[in-house]
Amino acid sequence: MIRNPDKPPFPFSPPPRFIWPNGKRCAVMLCFDVDGETTALSEDPELARRLTTMSQCEYGPRVGVPRILGLLEHLGLPATFFIPSYIIEHHPLMTRAIAAAGHEIGAHGHLHEKLHTLSPEEEEHILQKSLSIIESITGKRPTGFRAPWFEINPGTTELLRKEGLSYNASLMSDDVPFIHGNGVVEIPGNWMLEDWEQFAFNADPAWGVIPEDCDKVYQLWWQEFIAMRDFGCCFVLTLHPWLSGRPSRVRLLERLFNDIISTGDAWFCRGEELAAWVRAHPEHRREIDFDA
Ligand SMILES: [Zn+2]
Repeated sequence: MIRNPDKPPFPFSPPPRFIWPNGKRCAVMLCFDVDGETTALSEDPELARRLTTMSQCEYGPRVGVPRILGLLEHLGLPATFFIPSYIIEHHPLMTRAIAAAGHEIGAHGHLHEKLHTLSPEEEEHILQKSLSIIESITGKRPTGFRAPWFEINPGTTELLRKEGLSYNASLMSDDVPFIHGNGVVEIPGNWMLEDWEQFAFNADPAWGVIPEDCDKVYQLWWQEFIAMRDFGCCFVLTLHPWLSGRPSRVRLLERLFNDIISTGDAWFCRGEELAAWVRAHPEHRREIDFDA
């Protein structure tokens, strides 16, 4: 193929995939999945006796969340916290602190159950239970859902609609939100914008990989943000406080968030605001197809 030297790099100035509020070029949804002790308990209830493994998980609700809340308050940023209702029950003060700071709390199972292991009846029961526990402690029924491990079943989005939820944040088939046939908004994420792959490690049971260098992770996420801004996408970052609440990683987040703020182009939003915008403006979405 002969390259035309006069052509700008592809695509130099593509039309945005979605038109965002106030002339912003991209949306940014910061998600904190506070799995805490359910990280271990959902794998094997016997791990409750493995106190060091449990204590590493507990670091998230005990130390990571307050530190992250401090950073978000310092920078004036909103976020969405997806929390298994077992964690809500066992850390009510943490839950109320998140809600009092104005952040959104979304459903994330009860014990971080893998949905594919559940019958439809069990899945429905767990969703209903998790919603009522969150409502009983925060006074607000969640409008959003993130499946544990991002994995949903064929019937999950219909279950969400039946329970009155506005959005699901679990699929990976796009880089801007879309609307399911039943009206539930989908806010897609992806594994690259996740901290588990970068930072998770436990010796036994063996989880994760050798923890990554924060500068390298900054580059990974920053480059994706800058390109997503060029394409008018929705940057959905998923972080676990037991991993990203460690000191050097909070500094990484501070640097990343400050640099995103400095562009002046990003709409920082909670999931519920994002879903409301998408539902109100479906015509603002630009499809990618073979004719475009
Ligand atoms: Zn999770």
